[in-house]
Amino acid sequence: MSHDYDVIVAGGGPAGCTAATLLAQYGHRVLLLEKGSHPRFHIGESMLPYSEPVIRRLGLDWSEGAVFKAGAVFIDEALNKQMFFQLSGEHRAYQVDRSEFDAKLFRNARRHGVETRQKCPVTAVVCGSDAVRVSAAGNDYRARYLVDATGRSALMGRGERTLERIETLGRFALYSHFGPVRGTLADGLYAHGNIWILMVDIGWLWVIPLANGRISVGLVVRSRKPRGVSPEALFRQYLAASPRLTELLRGARQLWPVKSEANFSYLNRRRYGRRFISVGDAAGFLDPVFSSGVFLALTGAARAADRIHQGLAEEREADPALHRPDDARHALGFDTMYAFVERFYQSDLIHNVFFEAHRDARIKRAISELLAGNLWSGENPWQATMLRGRFVPKSP
Ligand SMILES: Cc1cc2nc3c(=O)[nH]c(=O)nc-3n(C[C@H](O)[C@H](O)[C@H](O)COP(=O)(O)OP(=O)(O)OC[C@H]3O[C@@H](n4cnc5c(N)ncnc54)[C@H](O)[C@@H]3O)c2cc1C
Repeated sequence: MSHDYDVIVAGGGPAGCTAATLLAQYGHRVLLLEKGSHPRFHIGESMLPYSEPVIRRLGLDWSEGAVFKAGAVFIDEALNKQMFFQLSGEHRAYQVDRSEFDAKLFRNARRHGVETRQKCPVTAVVCGSDAVRVSAAGNDYRARYLVDATGRSALMGRGERTLERIETLGRFALYSHFGPVRGTLADGLYAHGNIWILMVDIGWLWVIPLANGRISVGLVVRSRKPRGVSPEALFRQYLAASPRLTELLRGARQLWPVKSEANFSYLNRRRYGRRFISVGDAAGFLDPVFSSGVFLALTGAARAADRIHQGLAEEREADPALHRPDDARHALGFDTMYAFVERFYQSDLIHNVFFEAHRDARIKRAISELLAGNLWSGENPWQATMLRGRFVPKSP
């Protein structure tokens, strides 16, 4: 049977662009289909340093137009406590405008020989014994393999009803951009480029410095939205209640109306099958408190691309168990972050451990390593303890 392509990638975000570029680097014929059109807005601006090895494989410089991120500061204003964790070290991390970052990844895929189409949503997929058939924007394509990188749309997971909501983490987020910020606090924020995580009674707030004096601010709410309050009013109420944010935002403009994202944590119980794999958010999504989304998307997509290349080279791509050798590595990454986020919500990790971390340099280093994305070294004692003590189902 003749195929139009070796691989079709649905979704041109970080996961899809990574998989497509690496497969093209291996010499495969790749078609990348994106529903929208770059540059397009996307939330999720704070990166982790252990993404950098994948960025290097893609041949990109991600410092351009971005703010260097030294680390993360966790703050409880009511208790007057805060703790800084250094993240950039061997690898560096950045705070990025996702519209530019994602557009750069997409252009880079094209530069590596990936055939790209925008405004081209994939509407149907049939994974047969001889080929994958994909319908998108009135055209039908045939390929040897499909990578589902459709983000939270989770094309395959929704189609096959294999998504499972995680109810125990944050429920929804409200966010906007502000700028320009000025003054002593702003100077301090930009001197280090840290992300701030501020603890509040209904969840937490993020503050991320972006280029040109703009900041991304978001509120993640743990419970259901309080009745009778609009999202905009709830957001404003929590910004106004924070002395630090009130000072930081003095004189800054809100750059667009508050956006929201609801019910955001889920697992995809069937990450791969005959001739397909789901990567990035399409494989599962965790509450963003530790900024793990893009990092898991990049590393997971790179792992999938390496395995698909091997499958194609050996003509074993129709094997539904092609990705099984990577299950343990995938689970270690996802489950570590899952357990970490779960502890944040269920055992007051910040007050009991993070704010006390100055007492034990070893613990502080172990936490910094996890927050940086160093999940597969096998040398982090705190990771092992945390995974042993977890009480949620393991990822598939
Ligand atoms: C409130 C919030 C805050 C976050 N903060 C952070 C953060 O600070 N740091 C971090 O690392 N992560 C953060 N994230 C998570 C991060 O944004 C995602 O994990 C990341 O974008 C995943 O990349 P992806 O490529 O899997 O999906 P996406 O980036 O969502 O890309 C998927 C692409 O697929 C396209 N698509 C969808 N359906 C189709 C279709 N049928 N056909 C073709 N194309 C399709 C979409 O248009 C999109 O371009 C946050 C998420 C939320 C909700």
